[in-house]
Amino acid sequence: MLKQIAPGATLGILGSGQLGRMFAIEARRLGYGVHVFSPDQNTPTGAVADREWSAAYDDFDALDEFARSVDVVTLEFENISTEALNRIEKKTPVRPGSKVLEVAQNRLREKSAMQSFGLPTAPFAAIDSLETLKSKLNEFGGKGILKTASWGYDGKGQQMVTSDDDLASVWESYADAETILEGFVDFTRELSILGIRDANGNFDCFDPIVNVHANHILDVSLAGPGLFESKTIQAARDIVRTVMESLDAVGVLCVELFQTSTGDLLINEIAPRPHNSAHLTIDAHYCCQFAQQVRAICNLPLGSTKLRQPAAMANLLGDLWPATGEPNWSKVLAVPEIKLHLYGKKEAKPGRKMGHLTALAESVDTAETFVRNARQSLLL
Ligand code: AMP
Repeated sequence: MLKQIAPGATLGILGSGQLGRMFAIEARRLGYGVHVFSPDQNTPTGAVADREWSAAYDDFDALDEFARSVDVVTLEFENISTEALNRIEKKTPVRPGSKVLEVAQNRLREKSAMQSFGLPTAPFAAIDSLETLKSKLNEFGGKGILKTASWGYDGKGQQMVTSDDDLASVWESYADAETILEGFVDFTRELSILGIRDANGNFDCFDPIVNVHANHILDVSLAGPGLFESKTIQAARDIVRTVMESLDAVGVLCVELFQTSTGDLLINEIAPRPHNSAHLTIDAHYCCQFAQQVRAICNLPLGSTKLRQPAAMANLLGDLWPATGEPNWSKVLAVPEIKLHLYGKKEAKPGRKMGHLTALAESVDTAETFVRNARQSLLL
């Protein structure tokens, strides 16, 4: 049994955006200190941390010093080099560790790993020439999504391709990068499931969450009874458990899934960190994803994953911001069922995640209507 890292200790987080910020808030609530490390300054996480370390992720001297200053390290995004993580791991436990990150950072490694665990994914193939692109596209029924294998998120570095497209010119823009083609999944809906696991192997997960995307970015998430048949809930639970146990992942990990018209689940991707779709757990569940991350990396007892009330979350992107000033927050602050979360980002840009709203209601449908109306009211 690994021993607890008790409140009063200092937790380190790599990455300084909104996920780190919400993690730091929960860590402080439990009496921990928080140090954040990223190349940036005056960050959303830094604003609520005890210390903000600003240095490049390949500045090994700074990483060594950071590692010495904390009792355990976790992360809020997966694109940190394994060299940097290995360096920190020599001094301080990193949860999740470099092996998990290595898989999650590359779509080809990720999908191959899922297959080797016996888990279902969309059909996929590595593409290294125009000829393979053409032949694999045919094999996948003439329609697919071409993606860079690394560094993609929120739909970046990917595009839909069909056999009728000018594939030579499509391929030109990918030829320099490691590339994966996935068969197009004609899903009926997208869902995610967030698992929690500590270093002693204790595991739990939230029930799956329904996700609606707009322009490849998560737009609205829903949680509550009646969204899924019990066999789908069980299948999703089994998937996230298998992923976490097979990778020996510690902390929280989200599996994004497609549900097909036959009800089957296929893995889209994994994220070994808190996830945008589970932000609603802050208001809707007994113990939210960030508090669970704190508990899991510190070997504290895991918190309850029980739902308090049906809920819907809507992202607030920079597009909602007027040319000068802020949206009229009084509109949403006046509604008791709506909770407003802002990430303290200085500059609003189109597509930038600035905050979110969560609505709580008697049913998921009502929560969704509340949250969509509340967001719309910010534009009036
Ligand atoms: P990703 O960055 O891989 O999460 O993809 C962003 C979004 O693109 C997903 O949430 C889906 O809506 C869509 N997408 C990605 N891969 C596929 C696929 N193989 N088939 C159909 N839609 C996809």
